[in-house]
Amino acid sequence: MAEVGNELQRHAAEEHQAQTDGFHLVIDALKLNGIENIYGLPGIPVTDLARLAQANGMRVISFRHEQNAGNAAAIAGFLTQKPGVCLTVSAPGFLNGLTALANATTNCFPMILISGSSEREIVDLQQGDYEEMDQLAVARPHCKAAFRVLHAEDIGVGVARAIRAAVSGRPGGVYLDLPAKLLAQSMEAEKGRKSLIKVVDPAPRQIPAPDAVDRAVELLKGAKRPLILLGKGAAYARADADIRALVEKTGIPYLPMSMAKGLLPDTHPQSASAARSYVLAEADVVLLVGARLNWLLSHGKGKTWGKPKQFIQVDISPTEIDSNVAIAAPVIGDIGSCVAALLDKIGNGFAKPGAEWLNAVDERKDKNLAKMAETLAKEASPMNFHGALRVLKDVVKANPGISFVNEGANTLDYARAVIDMYEPRKRLDVGTWGVMGVGMGYAVAAAVETSKPVLAVCGDSAFGFSGMEVETICRYDLPICIVVFNNNGVYKGIDKNPTGGKDPAVTMFVPGARYDKMMEAFGGVGHNVTTPAELEAAVNEALRSGRPTLINAVIDPAAGTESGRLTNLNPQSSASK
Ligand code: ADP
Repeated sequence: MAEVGNELQRHAAEEHQAQTDGFHLVIDALKLNGIENIYGLPGIPVTDLARLAQANGMRVISFRHEQNAGNAAAIAGFLTQKPGVCLTVSAPGFLNGLTALANATTNCFPMILISGSSEREIVDLQQGDYEEMDQLAVARPHCKAAFRVLHAEDIGVGVARAIRAAVSGRPGGVYLDLPAKLLAQSMEAEKGRKSLIKVVDPAPRQIPAPDAVDRAVELLKGAKRPLILLGKGAAYARADADIRALVEKTGIPYLPMSMAKGLLPDTHPQSASAARSYVLAEADVVLLVGARLNWLLSHGKGKTWGKPKQFIQVDISPTEIDSNVAIAAPVIGDIGSCVAALLDKIGNGFAKPGAEWLNAVDERKDKNLAKMAETLAKEASPMNFHGALRVLKDVVKANPGISFVNEGANTLDYARAVIDMYEPRKRLDVGTWGVMGVGMGYAVAAAVETSKPVLAVCGDSAFGFSGMEVETICRYDLPICIVVFNNNGVYKGIDKNPTGGKDPAVTMFVPGARYDKMMEAFGGVGHNVTTPAELEAAVNEALRSGRPTLINAVIDPAAGTESGRLTNLNPQSSASK
């Protein structure tokens, strides 16, 4: 601590002489642009950058592993439309953060990974520095843009470029490389202040071409069985009221992708979620709003999509169009502007879809909802996924403003289908990659950015990737309730080693593990529950108290399916057939 004191005194003295340095310029540049939080892991050469950021009023959340800090920054970007900032040390710390940066880019979340690095002279001659790596070169293919700043007077430009690259157009991850020497460089404070840039209009509106809007509306008007598909781009865009108006004015059934759930409440009469396979197969015109025809939508073709159809796609990225199938009516622009233009064009003269289509959708929906209600009502003992999810569904209904983080295989698939969301940007999950390990990073950032409670429902396998962050959650005393669905293994907890040898099967974990004790180890609250009633009581207590809580929900080890819903992606060996 004496070291920090000295450091701060030194910087105070420097300021007295009207000097500033790289440390202060980075912090001032971020603050000038409204960035208030840093998610990171301090160490050489950025320890003092983190300390000084905190000393200068930024909120610095220190994690136990950079990947989790990076995931926190990524989801902070999604939640705020400002780039989430992750700060790491060089080489290994940078690489740990890079996974999250790549994931942010894949998901179109704005994020800036700031890593300290070794001196260029030594790195470029490969002379073997402490944690030496050419980080800029490594980062470049994994993000939207990558910059390095070598001179203190360029920090303002570097930060401004990073912000613009992260949030403008299709949002994504940006890498900013800050060599150790840069941070210590000093310059005249006044010159330094003038070198900073407050970014004006970082994500400029992009107005769609009128003929593109006309073409789209014509196609929609001619549809017999139209469908609207909302993706997480629509959730990110914060055009909530206009999107709802578009859905309601046209009367078209809609489907939300998982992170678009809650953009309109899942209980909305036009939601076709419970008739998903039917509407995808039967629709003749599909309006995509901020959703890509990637693997999550079977690339827009094949059995899932059944009857021939035409697509209208609203997206900010022109190169997304025709990426998988032909798009008949692209509408390029920001979702807010595009949806407003579509609404304008539609005016009051839009004839709602015919009763035949709407009744067919409702019929499917009612049938499937009744089936689901039956499944949820079953009292299985030992507790299974549906028994546990029945109570969590009611908890979310009673607390619609909480963030709901969800990762796993079966835990993800079942929870997505069972748990209704009521507000936009509350469901935070594994996203485009279907990645595991985002849980605790997302939970921490959701708590920090929204100041509201978080319920994180994770499979035992998924939780393992970022579980050590329960210490971070306790240290910052965040209102996070984690529920670990513990069925003793990956997918299921009953696999046997085929050789009969001593090693457990490759998908098995220690049976009967008590994840709740991890939370207790750091001063949080732990519960071990074996029935839906116990689970309900424990979650409600956690939400009431706001204390860091981990509930080990014991799930039947035989429950769950191989690869969850992704069985088709799992090549089967002839040995396991
Ligand atoms: P999902 O997985 O929910 O289907 P995707 O991440 O595949 O969603 O798609 C999001 C799409 O939204 C991307 O193609 C991205 O370019 C687009 N997008 C993101 N933000 C905006 C915005 N503000 N305006 C228009 N399009 C956007």
